[in-house]
Amino acid sequence: MAGMKRIYLDHSATTPVHSEVLEAMLPYFGELFGNPSSIHSFGQDAKKALDEARDKVSSLINADLSEIVFTSGGTEADNLAIMGVAYAREGKKNHIITTSIEHHAVLNTCGYLEKKGFEVTYLPVDRYGLVDPDDVKRAITAKTAIISIMHANNEIGTIEPIEEIGRVVGENDIPFHIDAVQTVGKIPVDVDSLNVDLLSLSGHKIYGPKGIGALYIRKGTRIAPILYGGHHERDLRAGTENVPGIVGLGKACEIASRDLMSEMDHLRNFRDRLENGIMDRIDRIRVNGHLSQRLPHILNVSFENIEGEPLILNLDMKGIAASAGSACTSDAMESSHVMKALGIPPDIALGSVRFSLGRENTEEEIDYAIDALVEIAGHLRDVSPLADAIERKSECVITFYEVPDALRAEKVLKRKGLKFTLSSVPPQISRPSCCGVALLFGCEDRVEVGDFLKEQDVEVEGIYQLERNNVLPERKKRRFWPFVG
Ligand code: PLP
Repeated sequence: MAGMKRIYLDHSATTPVHSEVLEAMLPYFGELFGNPSSIHSFGQDAKKALDEARDKVSSLINADLSEIVFTSGGTEADNLAIMGVAYAREGKKNHIITTSIEHHAVLNTCGYLEKKGFEVTYLPVDRYGLVDPDDVKRAITAKTAIISIMHANNEIGTIEPIEEIGRVVGENDIPFHIDAVQTVGKIPVDVDSLNVDLLSLSGHKIYGPKGIGALYIRKGTRIAPILYGGHHERDLRAGTENVPGIVGLGKACEIASRDLMSEMDHLRNFRDRLENGIMDRIDRIRVNGHLSQRLPHILNVSFENIEGEPLILNLDMKGIAASAGSACTSDAMESSHVMKALGIPPDIALGSVRFSLGRENTEEEIDYAIDALVEIAGHLRDVSPLADAIERKSECVITFYEVPDALRAEKVLKRKGLKFTLSSVPPQISRPSCCGVALLFGCEDRVEVGDFLKEQDVEVEGIYQLERNNVLPERKKRRFWPFVG
């Protein structure tokens, strides 16, 4: 990748640390290394830094600084909110309400509590990803301990009607938690106007460091700790504080407070440029999520007859980073739980890609990404196993030891005019010695492709044949076995 243009369009996965954030953190790895619990001056300097950071985090969401508990990130904040409130009310209340499109930090916490005897209602969403506040109202029972609904979805960017839901929940005096990991620092967030009692946020989504986050807990909310140890964070989160991380999170929140409005305009303009460019120049595309109630920086699109993973790999070869809405499970490509909840047909969902933009992206980068997508989508549709699965009986996969081998193979096969698709190695045949990239091609070409790569001195780990009993997308029926060593 050395010397190649690199464009990062995956800011919902993580963001680079802002230079001002890094600068603010550095002294806390050096001369200001004290433990905030120590009463000497080293400790007190660190304690002062914690207080200042707490103030900056609380200001960004219009909370009081005493209502912020630092955690190791969004996942821990979600766990503490849901488990903490559920355990504090255990015995009297055993029901939790959430949605089917939450992040796994919420879904798996609820799943764990189900095993412990709690009952969980997973609310549906409409085809744009919106939760209906009336559904929330109907799901509430006398046993409801907590309601947890994400502020905006990380895959499609749809913003939920939290204010309205907050009013419904407030009438019933039930603690209301929102996972705001994707919204804090991206759009204005005010805990009072949203009517929420608990809110999770994370540093690495807002140009802060990884491994730090916070939970806002409204004064008076009953909550139990989930970690036991010292008396840190008002007895709610034991463990010596991650002082450099907390300072970084504070700085990231300060920058977000300062730049939020201009940043939103910048991101929305570029997101629209990307969306319009793709829609104008590539056919059979659809945008997933809500068209107006959405975050300014996320664009999720499905490309018909193309799978998301090969598209991501091909983009990566051109230096562009984005995310696929599907993932390899143990025996098949599966669309995400979010795509399933939206009711998007599997063949369309498998072709979904999330682009998430950030402050450092430029107009030139967006245009480069559009050109690359036009070229890659055209190429993938030409050779798509989905497109001509009906004609083809079987398909082969070549795996490589190293990514550069795959790149060389791609180059020489292209020159020779052979049809293939860049893909990820199917989980059934991945081995520790094998790189993650594979080439897919028709088995009729197997000997020609194998011989040609050998002639060109491209090192191949193996060639495998995929057997299908049926045409795609019945991918669960695929079986793999080694064919040539
Ligand atoms: N919640 C949402 C909506 C997220 O998008 C993420 C991360 O992707 C998390 C929670 C988890 O945050 P963290 O990576 O800080 O643990």
